[in-house]
Order: sequence, then C-alpha cells, then structure tokens
Amino acid sequence: MDNRNGIAGLPTLAETVRAHDLGANKKLGQHFLLDMNLTDKIARLAEPLDGVSVAEIGPGPGGLTRALLLRGASKVVAIEMDQRFIPALAEIGDRAEGRLEIAQGDALKYDIAANLPAPRKIVANLPYNVGTKMLIDWVTASPIFWEQMVLMFQLEVAQRVVAQPGENHYGRLAVLCQSVAHCRLAFEVPARAFTPPPKVDSAVVVLEPLDAPFPDLKTLGRVTQAAFGQRRKMLRRSLRSLAEQNNLVLEDWLTLAGVDPKARPETLPISAFQALAGMISA
Ligand code: SAM
Repeated sequence: MDNRNGIAGLPTLAETVRAHDLGANKKLGQHFLLDMNLTDKIARLAEPLDGVSVAEIGPGPGGLTRALLLRGASKVVAIEMDQRFIPALAEIGDRAEGRLEIAQGDALKYDIAANLPAPRKIVANLPYNVGTKMLIDWVTASPIFWEQMVLMFQLEVAQRVVAQPGENHYGRLAVLCQSVAHCRLAFEVPARAFTPPPKVDSAVVVLEPLDAPFPDLKTLGRVTQAAFGQRRKMLRRSLRSLAEQNNLVLEDWLTLAGVDPKARPETLPISAFQALAGMISA
C-alpha cells in the first residue's frame, strides 16, 4: 500500500478522534484502542487475511479497521451502531481501494452469513455490554459460518471462554464455545491501553471451528443452563425438571451418560454435557 496516499498516510487515531470530536459514549461500551501497535497485534492473529472477508463489530474510530486493511484483508465489513463514527470510517474507506464496507446499525441484528462471502472471519474489540450475547449467537449458529473469530473481551469473559473443568471460571460459556471451537486466550491487555480506560483488564481470545463441532447447541444450551443455573447443587437435583420435560428417567439418563448423580457441574467434563444433550436430541 502507498504510504503517502494509503491507509498508513491517514492522520493518527488520536488526531482522528479530536478532529471528529469523538468522545466516548459509555452506554455503547466505548473504549478505544488508539495504539496502532496493539491493533496490529490483534489483526496479525487473524492472518492470513488475503481472500478473506472480515466482519468487524464496533469499529469506532477505526484503529482495528486500519490494521486489518493494512494486513491485507480482501474485504472488511465494519458494523457500527454509533453514526458519529461514520465520517472517520469513510476516510479510511476512501483509501481502501474498495475493500471497506461500512454498515451502520446494531450488529446483533446483522446477518454476517448472508451479507459476507465465505471464507469469513469475525474480528472485534467488542462492546462489553453486548459482547457475550454476540459470542453466544455466533457459536450457536448452525451451521458454523465463520473460519475464525478473534475477539477482545473483558478478561473475566475471556477466562470463561477458555476455562477447563474444575477451574473457577468454568461454566456454560466454556462448554458451549469449546463444543464448537478450539479456544485460546492469545494475550491480555491492561485497562490503561484503552481510551478511556475501562474498570477491568481485557484479553483477546481466538476461536477456530473444530473438525466435528457438536451438532445440537440448542439442547446443549438447555442442559448447561439447567446445570450451571444452580451450580452449587448436585446434578441429580438441578437436572430433574429437564429430565421430566423430556420424559427421561433421571437416574438412567445420568448413568447412561456416565455422569455421577452427586457430581456438581463445575467438575463435569465437556464430553459429559454433550452426552447428556445427545441423549435428549436422540
Ligand atoms: N473497535 C474500536 C476500538 O478498538 O477502538 C472501538 C471498540 S469499543 C470497545 C466498542 C464499539 O462497539 C463502539 O464503537 C460502539 O459504538 C460499538 N457498538 C456498541 N454496541 C454495538 C452494537 N450493538 N452494534 C454495533 N456496534 C456497537
């Protein structure tokens, strides 16, 4: 890319924020990354980007957007709810040789699979207030429509995605995410790296679909909701009503799935939740 006329020749992100008077709106979870070294580090996790279309949720002033384009993304669709950012994003688009599309609106209502050609990746510094909901929508989508997701969350959510049985953060999110994808925490980002700094640190997680994702995330979601909704209770208590709703004999269901009725959900391996869900699906 030409450094004088291309994206690298744009004003700095801090200048862009000043020039467009882009104060952060807390209600929309706005915490900006203005350090291009950091946005580049995130974009690198999504490589290779050639031949890939990227959905970027909440581009804000466009730091990550710039990094994705500089790293050679064939197409970036930047979905931003707050219209104040559109002019700053359009300036990037003017220098992106047709590779940037800006969609103004709520990403929760945006159909990535329908609007972006495959192969698709989702890369974002997500708004804290709706980030987990978006993640659950994408992991429970059937079929899985993304090749990779590179997502920044508050640290605690990132830990919940990658947690293993027996660990503090192990729960519903770990079981759902790890049932469809390899999940890893790539790196942590201190709160001071953002403008304005949030109250907590953040981390970037990378999800890549398994060769054989668990096929029925809806049922798995119901099992994990029942089990972790009452996480201090033994499974023979917390899963009782789900067994009744599905005409299963509780003790038989648990035994056939290889689950100790006295176990609590936080110690149960992901394969056990899948076995329980599989017997309902069948
Ligand atoms: N990507 C930018 C960065 O790293 O500097 C901004 C990240 S900021 C944490 C989250 C962004 O998501 C904000 O720009 C906010 O306006 C946007 N946002 C919040 N809710 C949204 C939604 N439902 N759909 C699309 N964008 C949303």
